[in-house]
Amino acid sequence: MAGPRVDILTLFPDLVEPFLKGSLLGQAVRKELLEIHVTDIRAFASDRHRTVDDTPYGGGDGMVLRCEPTVAAVESVHTPGARVLALSPRGRVLDQALVGELAAETQLILLCGRYAGFDERILQETGADELSIGDYVLSGGETAALVVTEAVTRLVPGVLGNPISPLEDSFVGGLLEHPLYTRPSVFRGREVPEVLRSGNHAEVERYRRQESLRLTAERRPDLLEPGVLGEEDRRLLQELGHGKYSRDS
Ligand code: SAH
Repeated sequence: MAGPRVDILTLFPDLVEPFLKGSLLGQAVRKELLEIHVTDIRAFASDRHRTVDDTPYGGGDGMVLRCEPTVAAVESVHTPGARVLALSPRGRVLDQALVGELAAETQLILLCGRYAGFDERILQETGADELSIGDYVLSGGETAALVVTEAVTRLVPGVLGNPISPLEDSFVGGLLEHPLYTRPSVFRGREVPEVLRSGNHAEVERYRRQESLRLTAERRPDLLEPGVLGEEDRRLLQELGHGKYSRDS
């Protein structure tokens, strides 16, 4: 499966392009595993001054992104079946489940806001879903669009060096990832847990699962929904003193 074609629509292409060229993303694009395009919304402004924003009806602070150039920019890249996503703090908050859903699309059009935000009719006319990367406010959608792009494209086979690694990440199995260690075996008196050096794969797996469960129960108990835990998981949690997970409820 190839990933979706990603289109980032922005007033500041210079902000996003260097990131897309660097690192694993750039390599994946050069290897043609991914297609990522950046479109300058201002190029679609038809008036003499190339205005892309204007003052809000009803008054208030900040400028509002205008309909004409923004909708024209979306229409210029839109292919049938495209999913249009307007980055916005009002949107559905991105999580790994949504990342998986987006990775299965054929085209993602990521619309970056600036200033006070979008004229509401841009969202209506393009059928955009609003998408947030968290409950805080950025000055523009560019960093958010890069977050979405990186999270989605790392699921595309071949983008990461090691094809099985995304399956072991935090959240994928509903849990946070266990601690990781590499050489040296002792650093400033801190030892790598013995079991990881034992070569006993079953014991290593058990230890890692238990550590994942421990971290998730301590930091993100909200992730331990019914259905995430199996019987062995409940036993492992009980060993850690987390008795309240002893039954599925
Ligand atoms: N007035 C708007 C915020 C505008 S911030 C409001 O209160 O909802 C300017 C732009 O930054 C937004 O249009 C959006 O594209 C982007 N942005 C800000 N915070 C974001 C977030 N948490 N997730 C995604 N995009 C965000």
